[in-house]
Amino acid sequence: MPGQATSGLSFVEPLIFERGTPGRHGGSLAALDVPDVDPSALYGSAARTEAAGLPEVSEPEAFRHYVRLSQQNMSIDTAFYPLGSCTMKYNPKVNEWAARLPGFARLHPLAPEHTIQGALELMYRLEKSLAEIVGMDRVTLQPAAGAHGELAGLMMIRAYHEAQGRSPKKVLVPVTAHGTNAASCSFNGLSIVPFDAGDDGVIDPSKVAPLLNDDVAAVMITNPNTVGLFERELPVVAKMLHDKGALVYGDGANLNALLGRARPGDLGIDVMQFNLHKTFTTPHGGGGPGSGPVAVKKALEPFLPAPTVEKNAQGHYYLDYDRKLSVGRLRSFFGNFGMMVRAYTYIREMGPEGLKGATDMAVLNANYLRARLGKTWHVAYDHVCMHEVIINDRHLKDTGVATMDVAKRLLDHGFHAPTVYFPLVVKNAMLIEPTETETKETLDAFVDTLEAISKEAFESPDKVKGAPHHTRLRRLDETRAARKPVLRYQANTPTA
Ligand SMILES: *Cc1c(COP(=O)(O)O)cnc(C)c1O
Repeated sequence: MPGQATSGLSFVEPLIFERGTPGRHGGSLAALDVPDVDPSALYGSAARTEAAGLPEVSEPEAFRHYVRLSQQNMSIDTAFYPLGSCTMKYNPKVNEWAARLPGFARLHPLAPEHTIQGALELMYRLEKSLAEIVGMDRVTLQPAAGAHGELAGLMMIRAYHEAQGRSPKKVLVPVTAHGTNAASCSFNGLSIVPFDAGDDGVIDPSKVAPLLNDDVAAVMITNPNTVGLFERELPVVAKMLHDKGALVYGDGANLNALLGRARPGDLGIDVMQFNLHKTFTTPHGGGGPGSGPVAVKKALEPFLPAPTVEKNAQGHYYLDYDRKLSVGRLRSFFGNFGMMVRAYTYIREMGPEGLKGATDMAVLNANYLRARLGKTWHVAYDHVCMHEVIINDRHLKDTGVATMDVAKRLLDHGFHAPTVYFPLVVKNAMLIEPTETETKETLDAFVDTLEAISKEAFESPDKVKGAPHHTRLRRLDETRAARKPVLRYQANTPTA
């Protein structure tokens, strides 16, 4: 931020483009041992005629710049990150070791098949593992995010119906659903029919029955749902849909509550996405590209995106592009391969018992928070929850303190805020997901902090309303930051 002092530092921190001095550098190159050709001979008119204007800096300047930037981020490596629905799991460092093995990291996506047998085997085994975990038949690893997986899954559902000469246009979606569900339908030319859950927060089959007709392609169900409750009527609802020839899409973002305990395929789900960056510990958000594999039951296998990874009788792995009913390719090459290596490493490192243990601990941690937080805050559905819990701040109504203020105040205490104002069915919701890796000490510190903020809201509300006080930047215009990000260096333009 040009001209802006950073908190804790007394000098104005220049941007990287404002650093350095011509001729300064941090590397030493060996003497040239090939002919020094004129770039225009190689690149013609595309050759650069003047220097690129890159900052000329020493190694310490470059290193400090990037480390400083990394420290300005809240991350799972530095803090508790209870962002509900997002499953911000710790990313085990052994995953990074595996992903950096040169045999994986230095592969070229166009390398001939016989030279990438190890990579194909990993993809093949990851597919088998994911299919086993959820009780489904095949998995595509192509989609690059959960939302992309939803898109892929709905494309397959559409193709399935079209192959039978039908083109139903409606998808039933509970009002608690993640916004991406509606967006994925819309991208597929399908319209959504929203429906309410019962008063206890879970789907009531009697509310679904009147909505069923020949124009319904599928229902999309998140289980556990976004209020953290297990959809116990899912098999009943699935049967109702199947009896009408419709399918059941499972939004698998909350799979962290089911690993080793329940298989969506057994509950009636026909298609579902995984969010490897949630359940399977690959980096999330700015930390790395995502990955949203999609599992399907046998009936949808013909429609999987091409290519799929197959193994022939000789044990040779190959890419199968010859899939006539395929919905096509959804991603350049094969998807985000580095994420597949990380997720596979995690699955092997944990083993079946380990994955089940992760789920058990994630659910236990959420219920511990529910029990402790319920003493001060209002728990929206106060019965045993799955891996996340919703509280709201209705006891602060007369203080003038808003949910967003509480979220911002948490940042001052070194915690990432929970998801706020989602799901929409709970007014002023705070959706808290602790995940399995947090210690009791961390959970207690988080509850103590929320209790302190609650007290502060009554005693000095302005302190909470003015938060955050200790972060590098204060309140930002989040909409503008998302919609109009300043991604290019502009000299002397204040960016905050
Ligand atoms: C995160 C999430 C999604 C979307 O996944 P992305 O990987 O963020 O695209 C969909 N549904 C639910 C319930 C989610 O939590």
